[in-house]
Amino acid sequence: MRNTPNPKLELDALIVGAGFSGLYMLYQLRRMGFSARIYEAASDVGGTWYWNRYPGARCDTESAQYSYSFSDELQQEWSWSMRYAGQPEILKYLNHVADRFDLRSDIVFDVRIQSAIFDEEKNHWKIQTSQGETIPARFCIMATGCLSSPNFPKIEGLESFAGPVYHTGLWPNEEIVFDGKKVGIIGTGSSAIQIIPLVAEKAEHLYVFQRSPNYTIPAHNGPLDDEHQQKIKSNYADIRKKARLLPAGFLQDYNDKSAFDLTLEGRQREYEKRWAHGGLPFLASFSDLQYNEEANNTAGAFVRGKIREEVEDPKIAELLSPETILGCRRLCVDTGYYETFNRSNVSLVDVSKSPIDKITAEGVAVSGKSYRLDSLILATGFDAMTGTLLRIDIRGREGNTLENKWISGPSTCLGLMMAGFPNLFTITGPGSPSVLTNMITSIEQHVEWISKCLGYLRENDIGQIEPTVKAEDRWVEHNNDLAAKTLRYKCESWYLGSNIPGKPKTFMPYIGGFAFYAEKCAQVASAGYEGFMLTANRSGDKKLKTN
Ligand code: NAP
Repeated sequence: MRNTPNPKLELDALIVGAGFSGLYMLYQLRRMGFSARIYEAASDVGGTWYWNRYPGARCDTESAQYSYSFSDELQQEWSWSMRYAGQPEILKYLNHVADRFDLRSDIVFDVRIQSAIFDEEKNHWKIQTSQGETIPARFCIMATGCLSSPNFPKIEGLESFAGPVYHTGLWPNEEIVFDGKKVGIIGTGSSAIQIIPLVAEKAEHLYVFQRSPNYTIPAHNGPLDDEHQQKIKSNYADIRKKARLLPAGFLQDYNDKSAFDLTLEGRQREYEKRWAHGGLPFLASFSDLQYNEEANNTAGAFVRGKIREEVEDPKIAELLSPETILGCRRLCVDTGYYETFNRSNVSLVDVSKSPIDKITAEGVAVSGKSYRLDSLILATGFDAMTGTLLRIDIRGREGNTLENKWISGPSTCLGLMMAGFPNLFTITGPGSPSVLTNMITSIEQHVEWISKCLGYLRENDIGQIEPTVKAEDRWVEHNNDLAAKTLRYKCESWYLGSNIPGKPKTFMPYIGGFAFYAEKCAQVASAGYEGFMLTANRSGDKKLKTN
């Protein structure tokens, strides 16, 4: 069943965003016979993978698991070329999904949602677009991603730089030539760690302005051979099932031993094995790495040892070595990062003690010294998890704004809904496991929960759903309690909002693990949406579409 493109007709659901979440949400709602439409600010599908097209952009969850599981035909027919897929291949995959399930006819591109205002009398959301249209929809579903509002640092003179300035999260859709250029990059997080080795190969000189070093584990990326793919494809059902029972929603080798169950040699062997395997499973080397600082120190010391082995200049090795808790900030995964600092055309500029003074037309000034640049790259991250939602003027009951509700930090029930904002859903919102898990596992679980919920409301002639303040408070408190017990609470990170000046300090993603979370969501639903208020349709309310 297709929507009519008439913007004046009330939709059952308006979905914001055409990334992994929005596409699957549209697919599900359409299958159930609801009228649904996506509005997307970009010119095509992809979400994060549309915007982050910088050289080296690559997913650090293995391709075979960083993919949809909802259609066995899809997972059987699609073949990934690499263990970790690059951005172009992931974007191709999402385009394939959009075409295969004929989703484009219900997506409006190049339109940004500016506001969503709940009309209590009409019992629908009035959603205003950048084109000046106001679209009524019973449900509004924010599929806006966790890392989709780029953070531009407040450095004096940034706008005065004479050359081009690129943000990794808003990379242009054309080839950028760095050959023979003096290039500066600000930031050394996951994005920077991916782009630095590639720009270094082209640039005449690359200056890396580092405020804090990060731990990174080698990806050991490589082609996926046919035999291995076939093995995965014939075991897909089992792989997905097992992944959903794990905290990260990702099938990997968890070690349930403490780091101190082994001797120093035994521990080193485990770390060496994990280093050789590569990627994020390094964090699962021992069960206490995220809880016990001493145990964590053993992993940090191991990585610092590797940095000293790989980086020839001991002073540079020292600067690249974090002394912080490994995995407190998001662990990075790289290809050739540390070796890049052995190149004669790469300089690491420490801005930890004395920050960048200013940016001028010619370049970047640090501690009175000027670095002349032709191009500048900002790999300065995102206003994560809440930034994109708060950029939309969202108003719930009695005109109360989400901005006001979240003034001291985001509060949600299960990361799915907010008290005072009926019929508004967030996919991978704050309070959901999202960024601490395989995003696709979490997205599928959310989309399926929301779809079932809408089906339940339709079947039971219910016009509104909204969490109680009590249930929401309990969820927030539960997550805060769990987060405070882990080492992740012990450093400044974007999980806590510390990267954005003035952002309240709250641990935003749910830290209790995917399996526990999914179980909790299922229990809530099977108990008739316990902790949520359900209100019957009133006589004038438009009935939801049925198949
Ligand atoms: P990020 O981790 O937040 O890193 C931002 C970097 O910019 C940090 O090094 C930060 O320094 C620096 N910075 C910000 N303002 C600065 C200033 N005024 N002066 C100097 N340095 C400044 O951002 P990201 O690298 O874009 O990564 C964000 C997240 O996206 C990742 O954690 C990950 O979840 C996701 N991601 C995933 C992949 C993947 O799957 N492979 C790739 C890229 C990104 P400080 O640390 O000192 O604040």
